[in-house]
Amino acid sequence: MLTRRQFLKKCRDLSLMMCGSTLLTRTVAEGFIKLAKNPPEIAFIHAQNCMGCTTSMLYGNDYDFLDFLNHVGHLAVHPALSFSQGSDYMANLDRVAAEENFLLIVEGSIPANPPEACYLGDKPLYHILANYASQARVVISSGSCASHGGIPASNGNRTGALSVTDYLKEKNIDVPQLRIPGCPAHPDHIMGSIAYIAATGKAPPLNEKSGQIEEYFGELIHNRCSRFQYFSQDQFVKNFATDKNKCLLKKGCRGPITASDCPVRRWNKRTSVCVESNTPCIGCMSPSWPFTTSLYLETTQVEDLPWSEMKEKIDRRRDK
Ligand code: SF4
Ligand code: SF4
Repeated sequence: MLTRRQFLKKCRDLSLMMCGSTLLTRTVAEGFIKLAKNPPEIAFIHAQNCMGCTTSMLYGNDYDFLDFLNHVGHLAVHPALSFSQGSDYMANLDRVAAEENFLLIVEGSIPANPPEACYLGDKPLYHILANYASQARVVISSGSCASHGGIPASNGNRTGALSVTDYLKEKNIDVPQLRIPGCPAHPDHIMGSIAYIAATGKAPPLNEKSGQIEEYFGELIHNRCSRFQYFSQDQFVKNFATDKNKCLLKKGCRGPITASDCPVRRWNKRTSVCVESNTPCIGCMSPSWPFTTSLYLETTQVEDLPWSEMKEKIDRRRDK
């Protein structure tokens, strides 16, 4: 049993995870008090995935994932973390789905052709995922493969891999959805979204243009990058050894075309982020990732970036 002080600390931590500030502490606390009566079950299904998103959740931040789940809901089934495996896993999944108070988290893309490329129990996932998704309160796509197709759907696409959204469209299933891209997904983005739903009873607000969570994916990486000042002074890294800290655009950085709060949220217990480690952003949260040609932006593509919009932003900052 938590003391009041511990309870409030948890709410504060979750508010930080959800929106990067303590602003929602009160909402979280009120939500949890209501929630105690009817906590959502949380069920994971693995499609074509590499386990990277689960690994990211387990080890990627300073908040223990299982402890977290025990406070906002109940982890009903997970293909790798649950004790129940095989037929027990399927029985648990069926039970949870029948109760219709669960969040379904899918990791990986769905193979449509051949559907036999991935099984759930003794049936191709393509044929039965729809049954579970249609009963979920919210379907959360965790990572770029589930959100946009990712690596399995890239050049060649040998398994006809679909994102969860495209799959549900193909199956005519209309259910609330959240897409949380990233290779892997950021643990805060997943846990914060679950906490938000648990605390408020609804999905986090979405960006009108992209349809992705405004709080996490509402701003380009470029606009909040620690190297932005070098970009605005046209100082670019030409040589990784000698030009440390300058803008990485000319080294193929995709920060100007990728929306995420990576620069301010950072990774690995808030230690660092790609650009701070002197490597260009490869745009792993972009809907186009992993792109058709190169992981990095080609020099010719740099010219096609929305420069006027970016320069206007710089001018607005200078005018302040
Ligand atoms: S191009 Fe990349 S390194 Fe340069 S400011 Fe933008 S995000 Fe940062
Ligand atoms: S900075 Fe870019 S490559 Fe790095 S995690 Fe964020 S979106 Fe992915």
